[in-house]
Amino acid sequence: MHNLDRILNQIRDRIHEEADWGLPAQYIPELANVAPEQFAISVVTSNGQCCSAGQADRPFSIQSISKVFSLVATLGRIGEALWTRVGREPTRAAFDSIMLLETDNGRPPNPFVNAGAIVTTDALLAGREPRQALAEILGLIRTMAGRDDIYINKRVAQSEKRTAERNKALAHYLASHGNLLNDPDLTLGTYFHQCAIEMTTVQLAMSGRVLAGLDCAPPTISRTHARRTNALMMTCGHYDASGEFAFKVGLPGKSGVGGGILLIAPRRASIAIWSPGLNGYGNSQAGTRAATMLAELTGWSVF
Ligand code: GLN
Repeated sequence: MHNLDRILNQIRDRIHEEADWGLPAQYIPELANVAPEQFAISVVTSNGQCCSAGQADRPFSIQSISKVFSLVATLGRIGEALWTRVGREPTRAAFDSIMLLETDNGRPPNPFVNAGAIVTTDALLAGREPRQALAEILGLIRTMAGRDDIYINKRVAQSEKRTAERNKALAHYLASHGNLLNDPDLTLGTYFHQCAIEMTTVQLAMSGRVLAGLDCAPPTISRTHARRTNALMMTCGHYDASGEFAFKVGLPGKSGVGGGILLIAPRRASIAIWSPGLNGYGNSQAGTRAATMLAELTGWSVF
């Protein structure tokens, strides 16, 4: 058996032995029902090989990992203009914090906290219908993954919409500072649908090849945008646990409350991990552990 297969099987076995799963996101009813004792990992390497262990063909809700794709799409569309509306600094506050907005006149600190992602989606939506912006994000993901069978789970989007008081507060606060171009409900509806995209770890690992520099990028993704997206994943991709993640894993990563993690080992591999139980920061509990093991066993690091 190939060395990488052995490593992935070892990680999967260890994760099941440790059985330290955490709790699925409770504030989105459709996600709260997912059984936590599940795990998958997929790795695509520079020679095009894809290795997996666990439930690598089971689609899961990518949630905040979609913020990586909406950022890439928005940078492709409006370029540097985005940064007048969103910062590029990590924070010590939770992903859905409103406090951060008060300190900088409604300019979110980075595009990966919820407020920053809402502004990014708002910029992508400007002058268009939600379905056009969503088609652009979904189309970009399908191109990056090289797969057509990637869809939005509308039940998850509706479920989040019904319990979205916090995100509504963020959007209306942004609007009060003139930092939303569209009606807050329209932007939020688009944002919830983008978060409700479902992918398997195989599809997600395939989609990260461009960011890892393993694949020639579609014309809308420049190397500069890919590098900058990696930088933001490293500094802000795990919210107020980004420092700890960089310390333990040493690779750019983006988490989502569906329990997924997209991990980039530049020029070496694109990695996707899924386990739906979360830690206190809203990042996958077993997924973070698996990322740590993978970094140790392969030696992959940007440092
Ligand atoms: N849709 C989720 C929310 O807005 C995404 C959060 C996340 O994955 N961290 O709360």
